[in-house]
Amino acid sequence: MKLFNYSDLSTADIQKLVQRNVDPANEIRTIVDEVIANVQQHGDKALYDYARKFDKVDLSNLYLDKTDLEELAESVSAEQKAALQTAYNNIHKFHKSQVKAEDKVETMPGVTCWRELRPIEKVGLYIPGGTAVLPSTFLMLGIPARIAGCSEIVVCSPPQKNGKVNAFIAYVALLLGIEKIYLIGGSQAIAAMAYGTESVTKVDKIFGPGNQFVTKAKTIIQSTTTTAIDMPAGPSEVLVIADESANPTYIAADLLAQAEHGIDSQSVLVCTSAQIAQQALAEVEKQLPVLPRAEIAKLAIDNSYIVVTSNLDDAMDFSNQYAPEHLILATERWKEITGFIINAGSVFLGNLTPESAGDYASGTNHTLPTSSYARAYSGVSVDSFVKKITFQHITREGIQNIGPSVEILAELEGLHAHRNAVSIRNSN
Ligand code: NAD
Repeated sequence: MKLFNYSDLSTADIQKLVQRNVDPANEIRTIVDEVIANVQQHGDKALYDYARKFDKVDLSNLYLDKTDLEELAESVSAEQKAALQTAYNNIHKFHKSQVKAEDKVETMPGVTCWRELRPIEKVGLYIPGGTAVLPSTFLMLGIPARIAGCSEIVVCSPPQKNGKVNAFIAYVALLLGIEKIYLIGGSQAIAAMAYGTESVTKVDKIFGPGNQFVTKAKTIIQSTTTTAIDMPAGPSEVLVIADESANPTYIAADLLAQAEHGIDSQSVLVCTSAQIAQQALAEVEKQLPVLPRAEIAKLAIDNSYIVVTSNLDDAMDFSNQYAPEHLILATERWKEITGFIINAGSVFLGNLTPESAGDYASGTNHTLPTSSYARAYSGVSVDSFVKKITFQHITREGIQNIGPSVEILAELEGLHAHRNAVSIRNSN
């Protein structure tokens, strides 16, 4: 990991440091454009071809049904089921608390306005399964979709070498009451759900994280089809703000937890103590080689860095410019600085709150905006799966009260039919 001193960095240096996952030569875009065009044109046939090309598997069927899923789930142990159930319960409890009826507001006598939630009918969930299979992502997307009451849930996940999904994905499907999983990965899965094919239903909104191909496909279909997306949730990243009260061993573990996701993941340490930074770096070197995914983590760590600042204000300033997906405040003073966070996807407070807790089981959602999209996007929640429809009701008294203002406003915009729609009601 490269080490920088914050005071030596110019504005341009900082801009360069906080930039990630750019595709300047449009290499990813070119590949994904071709995949989308092929799926649009050739439907299921393209999906079989891409499974062969990218996932190295000859599929006999594009999906697994309930019987297949039940069979696969048999190998999940009682201990694993209990852990998945704990995660399910906590995620469900936290997300259920997000559903609240809103007040009806009388804006003036006789004029009442309010909002009601309605589920998005058809949603598509992408569950990554390239370098690591993520049943936790299935829980993070499936639980809010179920709470929202979406009537059709299409699930896509890349096929494993045996032409199936792994046992845990199958078990989570059964927990969620989902009876079909499409064996489709990458940008072809996003295209299939956005355009529909002979087998895959076109959905209204696509959810889920993925690698650069998946994320690029989501951003393309968002502007070229009527299918919406949750957010660009690409290669994972963490930024740790630490001071002298942090534990370098914990910091290293958190940096590596992020790095093992993929070679394009990034772990950033912003530290007010050069000594703690050096100790954390030494710890990374100690903990990394024994990880089963050391090869992946090493490449991600090589693409990561440390910034040493002279105080927590500067550290927070850098973090806000980076806009991290995950922000860990590894300091006993976290209460003093939490209010200064402007941009972050999900925040982990204090030395005993690892990001892994939120990744799996504390209750918060782990599908979060990456690549600085946390400047404007929130992570997935029940809100992501609903529309908030506004309603209004106007009484005789209300139309008399609001009428003159609407007539004048319509008049000044030159929209006479608008004015008439009010006048006609007040003249009878
Ligand atoms: P993935 O499921 O996203 O991608 C695998 C698919 O990519 C394959 O099925 C294949 O179709 C396609 N693919 C692979 N190589 C290709 C190529 N050369 N050209 C075109 N398509 C190709 O799985 P993954 O690769 O393991 O990535 C998962 C990603 O999800 C990681 O980057 C991880 O950091 C990220 N993630 C993000 C969040 C978040 O909330 N932001 C959460 C969890 C995971």
